Parts: sequence; C-alpha cells; structure tokens
Amino acid sequence: MTDNLIYGPVPSRRLGFSLGVDIVPYKTCSYNCIYCQIGPTPETTIERKPYISAEKILSQLYKRLKENIYPDFITLGGSGEPTLNSEISDIIKGIKTYTDVPVAVLTNGSLLMNDDVRKDICGADVVLPSLDACDESSFLKINRPHSRLVFEETVYGLIEFRKVYQGEIWLEIFIAEGINSNESMIRKFKQWTDRIKPDKIHLNTAVRPTAESYVYTVPVEKLAYFCEILGKKAEVIAPFKKASKNEALNDIRKKILSMLDRRPCTLSDISSGLGCHHNEILKFVDPMLKDKHIELLYINGKMFYQKHGKIIPEKG
Ligand code: SF4
Repeated sequence: MTDNLIYGPVPSRRLGFSLGVDIVPYKTCSYNCIYCQIGPTPETTIERKPYISAEKILSQLYKRLKENIYPDFITLGGSGEPTLNSEISDIIKGIKTYTDVPVAVLTNGSLLMNDDVRKDICGADVVLPSLDACDESSFLKINRPHSRLVFEETVYGLIEFRKVYQGEIWLEIFIAEGINSNESMIRKFKQWTDRIKPDKIHLNTAVRPTAESYVYTVPVEKLAYFCEILGKKAEVIAPFKKASKNEALNDIRKKILSMLDRRPCTLSDISSGLGCHHNEILKFVDPMLKDKHIELLYINGKMFYQKHGKIIPEKG
C-alpha cells in the first residue's frame, strides 16, 4: 500500500473530478460489504480514534492543492469508513480554511446514530451516505456489519442527521441481483427514504469487481423501474462522461497492462507496484475489463486481474 493519503483527481460518477483523501488506514471499516470494490474488511470496528492525524492529512493535502489540479470536490473516504477518524471535524475545517473546493464525505452512515459524529461532519458541503438494506436480515447479508450495529439504529442516525445538517445529502443504495432486488424490498426502502428525506437517491449496482463473486449486476431497466417506485429524487448513477483534465494519468493504463503481462495481480499488488492509490487503479481497470483487455480470476476466494486470454494458473 502507498503512504500517499491523497489520490486523484479521479473521475467519479457522482462527484465529477474528485480529489480523494484517505483519512483512515486501508479497510478500517465498520462494515464488510459483499460488494466492496477494495476487498474484504479483515476485522470490522466501531472504535473512533485519530487513526491518521488531521495535521498529517492536511499537510499532504495542502501540498497537493498547490499543484496544477482542478478537482470538483475534495472527497473524504475511499479506503474505509471516514467517520471512524475522530479528527474528521478538524480535517473538514482545515480544508475549508484553505480552499473553496467543496468537501464531500463518503460514509456508510453506520455511526450517524452518534450525536458527535453528526456534529463532526456538519461542515461538509455534501454527505453521501449508504443505505443498502431495508431490514435487519438484508443488513446482515449485504453489509455484514460490526456485531454491535443494529439496522434500525443506523437508519435512525440518518433520519436525525437530516434534521441538523444544512448541506446536501445524496443517499446511495447498492442493489445486488437476487439479494435486495425484489420489488417488495424496494417498497420497504421507500418507507425509509421518505423518513430520511435525502436531496438525491442514487441507485448503484455492481459495475466493478466486488469482494464476493456472487454479487451480480441489476439490469439498468430494472433500476429505472425502482427509481419510479422511490420517487422523483431517485436516479440511476450514470456512467462518467467528462473529459479528463489530466492526460498524464493515461500512462498508468500502460503500466498496469505491463504488470499483468508478467503475472495475474490483485488490486493491492497493482496499487503497491505502481505507487498509486487502489481507488485510482480502479478507475483504470474498469474500462479495461469492459474492453476485455483484462479479465478477472478468483483463486482461493481472492480476486486477481489478468491479461485477457492468459492461461489460468492451477489452484493452490
Ligand atoms: S462501507 Fe465502504 S469501505 Fe466499508 S466495506 Fe462497505 S463498501 Fe467497503
């Protein structure tokens, strides 16, 4: 893993060009979602502490902002659950005193039941929480939360947050075929979203490799129908279309292909091999998978990327 806490700007389907800031160590999270694109959580946690100090994060960020970059958002999140960092409020304040670039927080929302957490992220311009389950049983199945987290309490946190937060809330619902994709579940979601009152509801599905190989994509027509059920604020997250402002990043694609030419690699292998953040790498491997330049390979439950058409190595 790279020590660099800042990555991008990377194209984001929801935030345009987003400058990512990792404020917790890789996979420090209260959930172990079956769809997580950066892999499984070794051990879930709900302990808040200064995993990485505000001082260290801000000094790296200020340095990066002095370079010639034009992000649409500075986004806290990426490698885990950002509200676990107990200095998140200082981090947001530090960013706001330095730049006018709006601040977004990507959170799974699990800690918003805690009054302090709600206060700590009120300084952000946009908060993008997740709600992937409509009841306790789907919560356990999809998010595989820390043992002390209870579904209705997490939703309560979102409802309470709406009451105190003046900025925009863009709620994300991840739909996995056969898991939370039937109409009666979507109608249950609607009951919760009516109470949470987000500004937008974004429906997402598996467009990238996921932590578990049994997470399947929901067809876009079905997602569009679910949007009708959820009401006017709901939309399917559209593919990213804006042209890149940073041509130098195209080099990474070549480097990834050259690594995979030698052997299949995990996301972490590529990330550490190229000294790039795993989220940055994901932005490149997505289109390469779609164009069939590379493909996925699961060995002993671990996900690897390999060049398309390479011979699959024997297991074990
Ligand atoms: S909350 Fe986010 S980082 Fe944590 S396991 Fe789920 S998808 Fe991964």
